[in-house]
Amino acid sequence: MSHQITEKTHVLIIGSGPAGYTAAIYAARANMKPVLYQGIQPGGQLTITTEVENYPGYPEGIQGPEMMIHFEKQATRMGADIRYGLATKVDFSQQPYKVWIDDEKIIETDAVIICTGASAKWLGLPSEQRLNGFGVSACAVCDGFFFKGKEVAIVGAGDTAAEEALYLSKLCTTVHMIVRRDAMRASKVMQERVLNTLNIKIYWNSETDEILGENKTEGVRIKNIKTGEKVEVPISGFFVAIGHQPNSDIFKGWIDMDETGYIRTIPGTSKTNIEGVFAAGDVQDKNYRQAVTAAGSGCMAALDAERYLTAKGLV
Ligand code: NDP
Repeated sequence: MSHQITEKTHVLIIGSGPAGYTAAIYAARANMKPVLYQGIQPGGQLTITTEVENYPGYPEGIQGPEMMIHFEKQATRMGADIRYGLATKVDFSQQPYKVWIDDEKIIETDAVIICTGASAKWLGLPSEQRLNGFGVSACAVCDGFFFKGKEVAIVGAGDTAAEEALYLSKLCTTVHMIVRRDAMRASKVMQERVLNTLNIKIYWNSETDEILGENKTEGVRIKNIKTGEKVEVPISGFFVAIGHQPNSDIFKGWIDMDETGYIRTIPGTSKTNIEGVFAAGDVQDKNYRQAVTAAGSGCMAALDAERYLTAKGLV
């Protein structure tokens, strides 16, 4: 027989990126006594970036991990109950909803705000891991600026890769684009833009053999899959744009999602198909994916949750 601890909350926030912490700040200030579980990577994707220069309010820029400490401190100061722990299972069949933490504790809650984010997909090369944050990045909009006037490479051939290659082409001297097939997956219009941009050089049927450099990115060895031929290209930045994976697995079967696992919210709101369950940040946004947009949607979710609880007479 199991002896699971059960605890009751009004609002449970799952995830600790900009969306989760912002939802916590707003919910705490509205006296909803939110409990937030941080998940597997406290602070979220920003803790694996270096400098953030595009979040308003930091005129000198700030390191991603430090910014997330600020978010957490602010949420704590407002009275949010921030805890280590991973949500491992949910039951949204009836209220109060149940969320299992680390498979042992059950939180019963009137409202849930899902802010579990997304994770960038990586190639899986040791050099990619070693140089992550030292020239290797999964976000051109975040880090492209650091390579102004330099040569960079990008891997991927979807809309994100096309968009990011175009973005980088405006900052960098040459963008070496590594495409694994002889065609791009990106929409026609994006493909045409890429093909018509003179400083984007495409390597068809090619894969990344290795990213070169010890403590910083200095080059990439590109292998042609068909001929086996390898070329070394000097670069300062290496961008991986092969897609993201929303962290939504535990909600499958309960929450409506698109075919790639992104949670569907009612446009203009944070509402999901289940009353009282809201979603914010990258887990429901494959389009913008910025810290500031995630924070904004976290605010929306807290306000939606507050209205919901008030209408139900629960707070
Ligand atoms: P996609 O899944 O559409 O594309 C991923 C790309 O990465 C594909 O070209 C794929 O190659 C390649 N890839 C995957 N794994 C590897 C690997 N291990 N090595 C090398 N290449 C690899 O992801 P996106 O992030 O581009 O887009 C996600 C969704 O968001 C799409 O629906 C897209 O249309 C949408 N989107 C729309 C935008 C817009 O409309 N402005 C902007 C950005 C995204 P292959 O083709 O061979 O499978």
